[in-house]
Amino acid sequence: MNQPQQSLPLSRTRSTDPEDLANEIVERLMYRIGKNSRAAKPYDWLEAAILVIRDRAIERWMETTSDTYAAGTKRVYYLSLEFLIGRLMRDAVGNLGLLEPMRDALRILKVDLDLIAELEADAALGNGGLGRLAACFMESMATVGLPAYGYGIRYRHGLFRQKIADGFQVELPETWLEHGNPWEFDRREAAYEIGFGGRVEFHEADGSEEKFVWIPAERVIATAYDTPIVGWRAARVNTLRLWKAEPLDPIRLDAFNAGDHFGSLAESNRADALTRVLYPADTSPAGQELRLRQEYFFSAASLKDIIRRHLQQYENLENLGEKVSVQLNDTHPAVCVLELMRLLIDEHGMTFTRAWAITQQTISYTNHTLLPEALESWPVPLFERMLPRHMQLLYEINARLLRQARSELRMDDSQIRNISLIDEHGERRVRMGNLAFAGAHSINGVSALHTELMKETVFADLHKMFPTRINNKTNGITPRRWLMQCNPGLFALLRETIGDEFMDDIEKIRSIEKYAKDAEFQKRFAAVKLANKERLAALVRERMGVKVNPESLFDIQIKRIHEYKRQLLNIIETVALYDQIRSHPEHDWVPRVKFFAGKAAPTYYNAKLIIKLANDVARVINANPSVREVLKVVFVPNYNVSLAEVLVPAANLSEQISTAGMEASGTGNMKFALNGALTIGTMDGANVEISEQVGIDNIVIFGLTAAEVAAKRADGYNPREIIERSPELSQALTAISSGVFSPDDPDRYKGLIGGLYEHDWFMCAADFDSYAAAQRRVDAIWNDSALWWEKSILNTARMAWFSSDRTIREYAADIWKVDI
Ligand SMILES: *Cc1c(COP(=O)(O)O)cnc(C)c1O
Repeated sequence: MNQPQQSLPLSRTRSTDPEDLANEIVERLMYRIGKNSRAAKPYDWLEAAILVIRDRAIERWMETTSDTYAAGTKRVYYLSLEFLIGRLMRDAVGNLGLLEPMRDALRILKVDLDLIAELEADAALGNGGLGRLAACFMESMATVGLPAYGYGIRYRHGLFRQKIADGFQVELPETWLEHGNPWEFDRREAAYEIGFGGRVEFHEADGSEEKFVWIPAERVIATAYDTPIVGWRAARVNTLRLWKAEPLDPIRLDAFNAGDHFGSLAESNRADALTRVLYPADTSPAGQELRLRQEYFFSAASLKDIIRRHLQQYENLENLGEKVSVQLNDTHPAVCVLELMRLLIDEHGMTFTRAWAITQQTISYTNHTLLPEALESWPVPLFERMLPRHMQLLYEINARLLRQARSELRMDDSQIRNISLIDEHGERRVRMGNLAFAGAHSINGVSALHTELMKETVFADLHKMFPTRINNKTNGITPRRWLMQCNPGLFALLRETIGDEFMDDIEKIRSIEKYAKDAEFQKRFAAVKLANKERLAALVRERMGVKVNPESLFDIQIKRIHEYKRQLLNIIETVALYDQIRSHPEHDWVPRVKFFAGKAAPTYYNAKLIIKLANDVARVINANPSVREVLKVVFVPNYNVSLAEVLVPAANLSEQISTAGMEASGTGNMKFALNGALTIGTMDGANVEISEQVGIDNIVIFGLTAAEVAAKRADGYNPREIIERSPELSQALTAISSGVFSPDDPDRYKGLIGGLYEHDWFMCAADFDSYAAAQRRVDAIWNDSALWWEKSILNTARMAWFSSDRTIREYAADIWKVDI
């Protein structure tokens, strides 16, 4: 049966009575934190509350873990260098069914649950969509009852905190652990030695048996920190296991005693550096030795742990592929292919052929991007120096792969070059995508379009060779966090209107379709949206001192700042609109607030300049009295999961305007539509499937298709010509590049805008007129308010397919082959 059970005994031994919960909270405060109610600060209350909630999760954790063991069920391991979790308290308390009892318990103690919940630090162990997907998947795997473990790195500093100073992005260190982390268990007993560098020795034991032994030059210890992940109605509680690096010798006392106080700590500092910071790069390469070390470190620790757990239950590794699935979230853990081969051959005595069959049976890989600059590869000399035994295995795998391609498939030289695990153009590099492809039985894309493009582009020849491996699993989002928790007003309205069934089966949300044209329901739906907009308006006023009118159309683009996501196109259209409003003041303009939020990779020059431009444009427009009532621009600093939880429910319009063919899926697009925003977007990533689900009349599509973008690029695209033919676009670009928005530095945007005339790789010019026209269609719909709310309601009604529960069930059935 697929649906989570409706009524599980949430807590067998512990009371859910608010009085009892209140007593427990006071007890934790006293015995775990060492304070009484009078001395307790808000953060102490939060910690005490979390400890009480955590105890409730532990019971189900133990039960579900031992059930899996007894049943001998296959285990799924989700390996990801990123988990963008955000806060956990509402997730856990909501999924345990304890929200109201805990609220009442805290009220007895004169503490407001909502206030202390705000104090919890966001676990920002990821950059963007890829990391947030991993977090939604963890929650969904527990919800659908799948025995799964997440594996990643416990970075001491997550994604940087963004400050906007004089309109520029400033990066500050993020310190989510500064008050400790009450969710986690530190598992001293789960520790593994991980090696780097050194040499490989060849041993001939008795003439027939040969053996390679890797003698690493350097070693660190990986220690585990576990966080319980509670599924909806506590169907299951799974484990997120994050690794921290520690030195073998915390201090070299001989060196210390000899007076070398800093040298004595060198090893300790080196280990510490390994898991200290998350690389702040999103879909761009983090080509640093430390990054490869992080990837190997967490891959190797996770595989050792997986094998230990397997051997604890079964005698040997012959059935590993039947009992274990290892899912690689992008290529960051792709070195697992080589590490698993090494463990099976060198440490468990298997033949190469057998080890290869088991490796492929065990591993599967998710591809997240086709952008050439984002495909991971490592210089051969670096790889060989850090992982000499793995390099040997890679050469052997490659030799067999290429031999097969030549002899069985008669592939030509250019095809051989494309499938090779080593890129021979220029500096020789190890291609992690090809390695993951070769070592996996399944390679999945994250939306229908992306999966088709994968077959035609990066993996075209590997796909010819292994035509059954590529498959699609369109991304999803968890409706618990992205509807029930972040939008309590809409959640309550839905329950009142269609009952509670959709809480357990999100497909049931479709039954609000029949109220889409109902004037009374529309009024209530609109009132919920307005309240959410008031909440956002208050946040913006408080944090930034900007006043916005909640009655305006809230138009929101929030995501990492990247040229392919085209925040620039949105800003240019904003400037064009500003011109139009001033030239036609008599027109009845739809009042709009344009919101932007997002972080730029610290080394990505143009992305940071786009942030400055958004802020410059905001400053000028917001200071102009003639457009005050109809146009405002706001750049909200420090975009993260918690901020998204406020912005998403407040949106009327969701901006999903990437250059077609470049956004693999997107998940922000799904969050907005589920919460009743209309999408303005290109036919890219999951927007294509959103348009199919909500209906083409309930989404505003514009611009070139992926095929048209590719054709234009091939034919020699001339942006200058297009710009010169569009008066609105020319005027806006001239204003920006001549310094209208940067009088203090008139040339600031000369290069950025000049680039649009020269090459415009992301086709802002080509799509501009179509985008501007689409925005005026949005205005027209907004002016027919009954029509607007009908479309808005239909979006909410028809987005259930994008639940990550559906995605996970597809992974389980097609890739992991596990019954749930
Ligand atoms: C959902 C989410 C993303 C992904 O957004 P896209 O629009 O799909 O790029 C990134 N960051 C945060 C904090 C999110 O919640």
